[in-house]
Amino acid sequence: MSTEHTPCSFTDTQMHRLAELGQHMSDIPHTFADEHERNCSFQNVEHAAIAQNRENLRTSVCTTREPALCRLQRSLAARLHSEGFAEVVTPTIITASQLDKMSVTKDKPLRKQVFWVDSTHCLRPMLAPGLYVVSRKMMGSLSLPLRTFEIGSCFRKESEGSTHLQEFTMVDLVEWGTPVEERDDRLREFMAMITDEVGLPDWRGADDESVVYGHGIDTVDEKGLELASSSMGPHPLDAAWGIDCTWVGIGFGLERLLQSREHTDNIHRFARSTTYYDGASLNIK
Ligand code: ATP
Ligand code: MG
Repeated sequence: MSTEHTPCSFTDTQMHRLAELGQHMSDIPHTFADEHERNCSFQNVEHAAIAQNRENLRTSVCTTREPALCRLQRSLAARLHSEGFAEVVTPTIITASQLDKMSVTKDKPLRKQVFWVDSTHCLRPMLAPGLYVVSRKMMGSLSLPLRTFEIGSCFRKESEGSTHLQEFTMVDLVEWGTPVEERDDRLREFMAMITDEVGLPDWRGADDESVVYGHGIDTVDEKGLELASSSMGPHPLDAAWGIDCTWVGIGFGLERLLQSREHTDNIHRFARSTTYYDGASLNIK
């Protein structure tokens, strides 16, 4: 039987191309009487999407001159400085013993997601080790409460779906010395502060159990997409890091925040990339 006059939808290659150009399948008719009608429709949609991406690219390069990821990084840092958080910048390469101290031991699933540089060093999958070390050293000279944060790349071997990147940007903020009874409220204040800075009004806190951090409150968007995970101390990991005060901490993925704000199912548009510039596809020739 010929497929020429059989009802059909876009091919996988066509759908991939339209997704790359930022098209939502829900916005486009995608059942067709036959292949000819489908291919004509694909060409029209692709043509319009290329024009839109070219326009967005021109605006970004000539006017904004800064990708959304960089803008968000800057505005979050400024907001955190003004809220009394000291910014720290720690190495991207950490040691195997720091992973062990985070309880990311050989038996844990996260250990299998680690990128190793050599037998004792890896790319950090999280920011907590650096924050733990620097903050504890600061505590020798400063009184509590002490507020610190870092923004930087984290690396995890992921299957790279629409919400996961192998290299992503985390902001992790910690308040050391939070009174025990205020910890939940403080976490919600921090969630409200970050989502306000991003421009994301529709979020909620959701209880979560993490293999590394134990009980915490996640921040999720209106579709249930996880934006952040949090934790609090006293915590079983604290002793290994020489910490003996109470604390709350929360880590957001910046690309996830942008993905959620822009209502797109393609996180790659907001990632470090040679395929996109500020969300616009560069494959538009
Ligand atoms: P998920 O369950 O979505 O894989 P997670 O619980 O493993 O995330 P956490 O360790 O809680 O991730 O990291 C804190 C935040 O960092 C997440 O809430 C998310 O916003 C972001 N994040 C984690 N992994 C990735 C990734 N691979 N790509 C993009 N963002 C990520
Ligand atoms: Mg989490």
